[in-house]
Amino acid sequence: MGYVTSLKCRGCSRETEIGPYNVCDYCFGPLEVVYDYEAMRPSISREAILNGPRTMWRYKDLLPVETDQVVDISAGYTPLVKADNLGRKLGLEQLYIKNDSVNPSFSFKDRVVSVAVTKAVEFGFDTVACASTGNLAGSVAAHAARAGMKAYVFIPADLEKGKVVGASIYGPNVVAVRGTYDDVNRLCSELVDSYHWAFVNTNMRPFYAEGSKTLGYEVAEQLGWKAPDHTVVPGASGALFTKIWKGFHEFLDLGVIGAVNTKMHLTQAAGCSPIINAYSAGSAFIKPVKPNTIAKSLAIGNPADGSYALRTIEESSGSGYAVPEENVVKGISLLAETEGIFTETAGGVVISGLKHLAETGVIKPDEVTVAYITGNGLKTQEAVEELVNPMIIDPTIESFRQVTGNI
Ligand SMILES: *Cc1c(COP(=O)(O)O)cnc(C)c1O
Ligand SMILES: [Zn+2]
Repeated sequence: MGYVTSLKCRGCSRETEIGPYNVCDYCFGPLEVVYDYEAMRPSISREAILNGPRTMWRYKDLLPVETDQVVDISAGYTPLVKADNLGRKLGLEQLYIKNDSVNPSFSFKDRVVSVAVTKAVEFGFDTVACASTGNLAGSVAAHAARAGMKAYVFIPADLEKGKVVGASIYGPNVVAVRGTYDDVNRLCSELVDSYHWAFVNTNMRPFYAEGSKTLGYEVAEQLGWKAPDHTVVPGASGALFTKIWKGFHEFLDLGVIGAVNTKMHLTQAAGCSPIINAYSAGSAFIKPVKPNTIAKSLAIGNPADGSYALRTIEESSGSGYAVPEENVVKGISLLAETEGIFTETAGGVVISGLKHLAETGVIKPDEVTVAYITGNGLKTQEAVEELVNPMIIDPTIESFRQVTGNI
């Protein structure tokens, strides 16, 4: 049994019954799930969580599902690594990496999709679909395989090969669209009306987005039931960023943690930074951009949750930073060479953003800081090809000595 009572419009606050809808009938505002927190409260405790499964489903009572038969490929419960080597380089004594690149389909998207596909089964759909910047396609395809459902994943045609392979392997229908992610997304919002499919980030979006809250819960649990002083988070639609914040606050309101004084820092790549542009201009209005960035997983020019992400920056006294394109790969290398973690371009954005925040004194040396690494580097190999330069030798000791300089 779950604790969702209705869907509510974030614009006009009108409530609708629970169903596969994401837009308000009256004002076209986005819908979000409403929980009965008082009914939920008795079942939420540190002890109950500790007794739960070692996946994101240890927080099931806080997620918008009813069934016990969740569609689970073991997302979540990923490592929180104390990053002393990287911390030393950046002058940070309490730096942690939330390594969500080791999820089953190698990105944090498994968290949102596990909720969305579970809900799709509850609603009786036999087909799941999505508009994807890459990682979502892989995760939807993997969960569809697990659930025995059909899948259609829509991607921009210029996606990295690792992302296309990482989705195709699970056997979905892969549709590559000549256009940007925003074109793909617009197409999918038209298809929603014609096909009775669960589009995880369109008609299932109110449920889907809630999966990201587990990245707040889990970090607080792993820090010993505390929210950090700072988080550094990558932004595409902005949903992940706002839901980490929501997760910390639900834990606070339910008495699981004692305080939330977290400053939330959002990072995007300069070639697609509509949310940061608005932040820097002091504007509450997001002006869409045409993406031109190496960080394709973050290449959403018209972010659905952009204005809510701005609000989260403001409420938390956080900040936003657009990472220069040439620093994205530098961030990838820095994390790999200091901590042995190979992340994709989104992680390069986060690490370069973190470096900037440390160097400019926004993050103080003794403050507990969590950098969210959301995707795996093996999926964006094109981005780092210039770093691949093995020493090629003949199979002889002489050749080894000559070429490597080991006398
Ligand atoms: C999708 C994605 C994000 C951003 O998620 P939003 O909720 O759309 O902001 C961040 N990192 C990676 C690797 C992603 O695939
Ligand atoms: Zn409304």
